[in-house]
Amino acid sequence: MKGTLYVVATPIGNLEDITLRAIRILKEVNLIAAEDTRHTLKLLNHLEISKPLISYHRHNEEERQDVIIDKLMQGQDVALVSDAGTPGICDPGEIIIKRCIEENIKIIPIPGPCAMINALVCSGIDTKEFCFLGFLPLNKNNRKQKLNEIKNEEKTVILYEAPHKLKETLKDLKDIIDDRKIVLARELTKIHEEFIRKDIDELIELADTLRGEVVLIIQGSEHKEYHNDLMEMTLDEHYKYYQKLRI
Ligand code: SAM
Repeated sequence: MKGTLYVVATPIGNLEDITLRAIRILKEVNLIAAEDTRHTLKLLNHLEISKPLISYHRHNEEERQDVIIDKLMQGQDVALVSDAGTPGICDPGEIIIKRCIEENIKIIPIPGPCAMINALVCSGIDTKEFCFLGFLPLNKNNRKQKLNEIKNEEKTVILYEAPHKLKETLKDLKDIIDDRKIVLARELTKIHEEFIRKDIDELIELADTLRGEVVLIIQGSEHKEYHNDLMEMTLDEHYKYYQKLRI
């Protein structure tokens, strides 16, 4: 019988944020495929789990999938983990998961932390519909295109960003988001966790002083358009508009 691939979410900072089920699965599997084995070893040591590890990261994803698939075909169970949060969300995972589907290997998600969801739910910005865009591309044309998408996006937009690129990203966003709300969620689950709710100019001023990991939550564009058109709305449109503002 073939083994199972468990896609296990791990903490995004606070080591207490791991489910009982995730701990049991990490104890039970034959092998753990980890983005950075040294990083995962710290978590395993904390949980007092000793288990064989194999590295599975962006640069060996293609070649390593064969090794992992072989193990699964032999009946071994494998847990896939990334450095933080949910594998496959701006982290390796997609390739091995697609391959398991092709090979008819069972895949079981073990839910847990994900930075974008926790940033979104505490942002105070509309959670009903949202659009996760990951990291903005670095390539100039692709970046411009993505920024244009954000400009017209009516749903709440979620972005990931590295601290040293934050200022540049905020400056680019300033040109397209006008007076839409923006919230910066920083160092989630860690000692210096904070939600910064300021206007974009103030955030740009602050950016150089901010350390650690960040998620950006941007209000959708429709609020502004509705506002401009307020005088021309029907009663029904007014009702929908105020319902959407209940944030
Ligand atoms: N797989 C992860 C998840 O489920 O959220 C995301 C990994 S991605 C490589 C790393 C990015 O996630 C960071 O640059 C930051 O934007 C965001 N992130 C991860 N941990 C975070 C934290 N504790 N606080 C704020 N943002 C975080």
